This record gives sequence, C-alpha cells and structure tokens, in this order.
Amino acid sequence: MKTLQRTFTIIKPDAVQKNAIGDIIEQFEKNGFKILAIKMLEITKHQAEQFYAVHASRPFYGSLTDFMSSGPIVVLALEKENAIADLRMLMGATNPAQAEEGTIRKKWATNIEFNAIHGSDAEDTARFELSFFFAGYELSK
Ligand code: UDP
Ligand code: MG
Repeated sequence: MKTLQRTFTIIKPDAVQKNAIGDIIEQFEKNGFKILAIKMLEITKHQAEQFYAVHASRPFYGSLTDFMSSGPIVVLALEKENAIADLRMLMGATNPAQAEEGTIRKKWATNIEFNAIHGSDAEDTARFELSFFFAGYELSK
C-alpha cells in the first residue's frame, strides 16, 4: 500500500522576482507531487524570524530573514510518497554551486542565500512549517 507523505515548500522572493513560479510548480507536478494547498503572500521580518527560529544562532539569520521578508513568496503544501526526501532531491543542494544538474536550485538559485526554494527537511519540521502557513481546514483534503 502506498503511504502518502506531506511536505512544505516556499518559492522564495528571488524566484518570484525571476518569474519562475510557473516553472517550479511544473517541476512539482511533473515529479509526482500533488498540490494540496497554495497561496502567494508577503511575510514580515518578525514572521520570517519565527519561521526560521531554528537558525537563530547562525551568522546568516539576519540576512536570511531580511531576504525572506523582502517581497512576495508562494507557499505550498505538497503530497506524494516519500515527499520530504524527494522534494529535497528535486530542490538540489543549498549552495547552487553544488546543486546537481536538473534540480530547481541549479536552474534558478543565484547563490547560497538567494537559492529560490525552501523545503522541509524532516517530518517534524514539515508539520511545524505546514501549520505555520496553513490552517487545518486548508489541509483537510
Ligand atoms: N543560508 C544562507 N547562508 C548559508 C546557509 C544558508 O544564507 O551559509 C540560507 C539559504 O537561503 C538557505 C536557508 O538559509 O536555504 C536555510 O538554510 P539551511 O541550511 O536550512 O538550507 P536548506 O534547508 O534551505 O537547503
Ligand atoms: Mg533547511
């Protein structure tokens, strides 16, 4: 029996600015991800700090949260078998210089900071991140 898993992704402000929304969503669908929920919005610096709280002690925290609150983003809830690991694979490495050919970051990222896309890295972070941006009724499919 197939076990479906949910993950959370953000098309970051740099990718929205580059008109990459359509291409990235096409990659999700071509790679077997079901779009459960989607919305475009802007977040405040404070909201970005809360979302990335796990990185609060990292040197890039201030710059990352400035970036993530600098313009519109698109947030999506995705579902497929093995969704969390498969999305990480489709995204490519955090640093696009190390991203594999055919990945979203290889195609769209500018550098290790402006790297086009966020994806949850584990089941617990997926749960937190989905609930940060989506209410229960938006995901009750
Ligand atoms: N980041 C950065 N400098 C770094 C590492 C990460 O600006 O040296 C940013 C980048 O936008 C990255 C985000 O912080 O996507 C979160 O970092 P993480 O290590 O969780 O990478 P990811 O899970 O996004 O691949
Ligand atoms: Mg991460």
